[in-house]
This record gives sequence, C-alpha cells and structure tokens, in this order.
Amino acid sequence: MEKHEVIIIGGGPAGLFCAHTCASSGKKVMILEKMPSCGRKLLISGSGQCNITHAGEVSLFLGHYGEHGRFVKPCLMQYSNRDLIAFFQDRGLAMDTEEGGKVFPVTRKSSDVMEILLAECSLHGVEIRCSEPVLSAGTVNGRFLVTIAKETYCADNLVIATGGASYPATGSSGDGYHLAGALGHRTTDIGPALAAVLVRDFPLRDLTGMSFENTPITLVHNGRNVLKHHGDLLLTHTGLSGPGILDISRYIRPGDIVKVSFFPCQEPEQAKSTVTELLMGGKGITVARMLRDLSLPERLVKHLLGQAGVGTGQTCAHLTKGTRNTLASMITGYSFPVRALEGFDRAMVTRGGVTLKEIDPGTMESHLHQGLYFAGEVLDIDGVTGGYNLQFACSSGVVAGRSISKKNARGQDQES
Ligand SMILES: Cc1cc2nc3c(=O)[nH]c(=O)nc-3n(C[C@H](O)[C@H](O)[C@H](O)COP(=O)(O)OP(=O)(O)OC[C@H]3O[C@@H](n4cnc5c(N)ncnc54)[C@H](O)[C@@H]3O)c2cc1C
Repeated sequence: MEKHEVIIIGGGPAGLFCAHTCASSGKKVMILEKMPSCGRKLLISGSGQCNITHAGEVSLFLGHYGEHGRFVKPCLMQYSNRDLIAFFQDRGLAMDTEEGGKVFPVTRKSSDVMEILLAECSLHGVEIRCSEPVLSAGTVNGRFLVTIAKETYCADNLVIATGGASYPATGSSGDGYHLAGALGHRTTDIGPALAAVLVRDFPLRDLTGMSFENTPITLVHNGRNVLKHHGDLLLTHTGLSGPGILDISRYIRPGDIVKVSFFPCQEPEQAKSTVTELLMGGKGITVARMLRDLSLPERLVKHLLGQAGVGTGQTCAHLTKGTRNTLASMITGYSFPVRALEGFDRAMVTRGGVTLKEIDPGTMESHLHQGLYFAGEVLDIDGVTGGYNLQFACSSGVVAGRSISKKNARGQDQES
C-alpha cells in the first residue's frame, strides 16, 4: 500500500491552497482529483472572471456568512483578503477592485488565477493525480485509508476539500459528505444557495432581463415577514434572480412569498402611502404617466395597468379607491409565491455541510480524528455574492495547510 504524508481529496481552490501551503514547508503532498483537471468551478467563477475576494477590513466579512461569522473569524484573521490579494500580486497577477468592493484579477481571467495556483503547487512538488475519484475513506491505527477505483492509499494526514453539492458537472457533487460520514462526522441539512427563485405562475415572464437597482425585498414565511433586504434584482423567464435574491436564497423555501418594491427610495410601508397619495393627487394626469414619473419602466407600467384593469388613457381622478390600493400594493410590495429554488445543477453554492461543531476553527482539524482536516465549501459555510466564498475556500485551505506543516512525523504539533 502506498504511504503518504498528506493526501488532499479535491483540487479546487481549498485543496490547492492547502497543498502548496504545507508542501512549501517540506511536507510530501498528493492531491486526488476526481475530474480530468483541477479547479473546474474556480474557472467558471464570476462568469469566468473570478471574483476572488472583497475589499475592505476583513472583520467586516464576518456578517456575510449567515450565522457562521464566529466560526470563520479565526480562519479569515489568519489569512485575510489582503493576504490573498498579495499572494497573487507577488506572483505577477495584479488585482483590481470594482466599485462596490468586488476584487478580480486585473486580466479578468480565472484561468490566470488557476495557472498561478498550479505553478505554486508544482514549484513545491505537490503531486496531482487527476481522474482519481476517491470512493471511500477510513482509519487504521491512527492513519487514514483512502480508496480509489484500483487501490487504497495510507496517509498520516487527510484533508477533505471536495466542495459542496452544487454545479456537480464541475466535480463537486456532495462526495465529501459521505467521506466525512464514514469518518464519523455529521452533515447538516444541505440545500442550494446563491440560487435563483422559481416563481409559481410567474406573471412577469414578458419582462425577462429587466433589472432593478437596490430593490427592497421582503421574505414572508407562513404569513410572517421574516427577512428584509435591499439588493439588485433581475427578472428571469421563470422568476427572480440578481444579487439581491441570490444573497437571501439560503433562507427561502418553497411556499414562501417574496415581496418586491419597485419604488426603492422609501421603505415599503411608507412607500405605499406615498404612492397612494400621489395617485390621489394626480387628478387629470393619466395613471400611466404618473407611474412612469415614479421611474417605473414602460413595460412594467403596462403590466401593472393591465393587472389592475386600468386603461392606458385613464386619469388618476377616475381611479376607484380599490384600484388605487391594488396599484400601490403591486408597486411597493409585488408578491411572488415561491415554487422552488433553482436546484443544485444551477445553484452557485451549497447551504449546509459538514457540521462545524466537530471542527477546530483555528486549524480546520477534526475534533474526532487527529490529522483529519476539512477545507472549503464541504463545510457548513456559505457566503453571499462578492468573493466571500472563494476567500473562505482559500483561507481555510491555508489554515489547514499551516496546521499540518506544524506537525512532526508522529502527527504531533512540533511546538507542543
Ligand atoms: C457559476 C459559479 C460562479 C461562482 N462565482 C464565484 C465568485 O465569483 N466568487 C466567489 O467567491 N465564489 C464563487 N462561486 C463559489 C466558489 O466557486 C466555490 O465556493 C469554491 O469553488 C469552493 O471551493 P472548494 O475548493 O471548497 O470546492 P470546489 O471548487 O468545488 O472544488 C472541489 C474539488 O473536489 C473535487 N472532488 C469532489 N469529490 C471528489 C472525490 N470523491 N474525489 C476526488 N476529488 C473530488 C471536485 O472535482 C473539485 O475539483 C461560484 C460558483 C459557481 C458554481
């Protein structure tokens, strides 16, 4: 049986960062990658441009991982957005910060990011075996057994960096949860996140492609407003998308209602009275003109008038109280019943994963087995759009790699 010092399952950003970090300290590292090449998800990230991280103080990142800011803190503090940007800049790939804070390679090519990662692994002698899906993992005498189709390897340290279950065509199809389970680790409920919303009988299909900036969005669950958010909205042919929707998708369930206000300058409650008053005071002005004056796009105005049964030439003075109320409600709180979220085949990340209770957030090492590590999206961590997911994948890979680097051949911390 081949014996290895470090085996990393998965050659995504988490696995590659972990690999070159511990290999640079002299560890012998092998990556087993299921697909014919590494980093297929990284290559399509940010539409191929790779939004690798976000600008600003890393302490401000913590609110962008749902309830798990506390867990990611030690990891991001040890390897921050500044460290990540410096890593690429030191190797000749400058980074560019967009207005709003998203950071991209200046070339806007994820393949340039990949090239540097692979070169770094090669420089430190990391062995990468592609087209080698790991089928199972176990332990024997404090070491790890890793089985691929034709053989079983033995490793002193094992890193599970297999990603989540979204975009399975890139290789990450949830295998990590089974591997973790075989080693005694639990996985939380998982689901698609950063996913578009499919709306039941979507009434705005004709407006596909229309977008709205900084839209107030309210999520209603069992008749209760459970979340308020502002963000950019995109209408698709099946429902709602855009960062404003993707960022709250981890909370959305079938049967919920997503309410959208097309009058973003005020909070929805106040906006409804404002719109009602404007319609009441509009007198001889046509309703269509009044709605256009609210900066509503022409095609949306047409749709709203049709839904409310108002003719294009009808003036505000001729609106009944009921119709005025219907229009104001639609403009400031259009209700979209959620049929479903887009599935794992289209979701950008996975909500849920290997439970955090069993992982040391300062090292990414398992509490159950010395020498077993987890990094990246396989964990119960998902961030909003803006570079937060790649930052966590890279940071957790580095932190796991540094912890392994500190171990001696017997698996003990060299400092202890
Ligand atoms: C379309 C899209 C766009 C995105 N854009 C961005 C963005 O701009 N910014 C951002 O921050 N995030 C983005 N993300 C999310 C981000 O890409 C992921 O969070 C990140 O890639 C996770 O890294 P990872 O290394 O943990 O997992 P992955 O990148 O999924 O890598 C896991 C690797 O493990 C391998 N593997 C799985 N199972 C096995 C097995 N049994 N044996 C061996 N190998 C295995 C897989 O083949 C894969 O190569 C995007 C995601 C998608 C789908």
